[in-house]
Amino acid sequence: MVMAKARAVDGPHQSFRKADIQRRELDKHDVLLEIHYAGICHSDIHTAHGDWGEAHYPLVPGHEIAGIVKEVGSDVTKFQPGDRAGVGCMVESCGSCENCEAGEEQYCLKGNTPTYDGVDKYGEPTQGGYSTHIVVTEDFVLHIPENLPLDAAAPLLCAGITTFSPLNRWQAGPGKKVAVVGLGGLGHMAVKIANAMGADVTVLSQTLNKQDDGLRFGASAYYATKDEETFDTLAGQFDLIINTVSAKININDYLSLLRLDGTLVNVGAPAEPLDVHVFSLIPQRRSFAGSLIGGIHETQEMLDFCAKHEIMPEIEVISADDIDDAYERVQKSDVKYRFVIDTSTL
Ligand SMILES: [Zn+2]
Ligand SMILES: [Zn+2]
Repeated sequence: MVMAKARAVDGPHQSFRKADIQRRELDKHDVLLEIHYAGICHSDIHTAHGDWGEAHYPLVPGHEIAGIVKEVGSDVTKFQPGDRAGVGCMVESCGSCENCEAGEEQYCLKGNTPTYDGVDKYGEPTQGGYSTHIVVTEDFVLHIPENLPLDAAAPLLCAGITTFSPLNRWQAGPGKKVAVVGLGGLGHMAVKIANAMGADVTVLSQTLNKQDDGLRFGASAYYATKDEETFDTLAGQFDLIINTVSAKININDYLSLLRLDGTLVNVGAPAEPLDVHVFSLIPQRRSFAGSLIGGIHETQEMLDFCAKHEIMPEIEVISADDIDDAYERVQKSDVKYRFVIDTSTL
């Protein structure tokens, strides 16, 4: 067993406390990762607060994990000690259903095992990246390219792949007009990635407060959605819209911005249903879709893409004692654009 230092919560809306957790003995396919940095994702907050149903407490969140391989099991072939490596939102899947065989482990028909608040194949609760070490089967560990600093690489494991996957699938690229709704942790990555893919990117944000940032990240235009004229001006313009907002918005207004055969993909996950009028879809043969992270192969592709194009999230590195404060600030959208915990402070 490896003892790891961690930060845990014991119930909804409780403060984080120091905790010691056990990581399992290495199986022959396992990798022991010494975690250096862990990003704070909005999902961590929803789970810690029990917003998506009762979580399993004590809970150690964190699924944007970057560090250095310390030890590998006897049959591990893809990693060796000293490698720079990461772990994202899932740590296992069945490996044999049609979706797993297609490399879409996130859509495993038996359900993937989330990095925290899940139960692993040994029946033990999974605990995430707000800790000093984690043990994961090698098939769910990613290589972090040399030119990506570990602190900035961490958020790519969730925010990066969550936006890369739909941009990739719906072929954002030269000649395509892409709109990104919301300029937060996910949105700012969507802008950077879509721009690097060669698409023409527009940001749709409530106000123009972050316009300078949006243009600096690669957007060619920036509109305030509070301004009703925006929806007239941009009607029927976009091939693809990525909605990163996890609050309830009038989705029909946004669907009206799609051109013929355009698609609006939701990666934000509002708790309440959205009211879609079918007549927002029929006249221009529009599609309304959802997307969940990406498969392991695609996650590696995303990391290599970001390394090649030198794309990194904008981060604020914090100490472990600041997690509660960071949660408050994320909920107020007071972060530019992702908090990353320095795990040496655990
Ligand atoms: Zn996440
Ligand atoms: Zn499966």
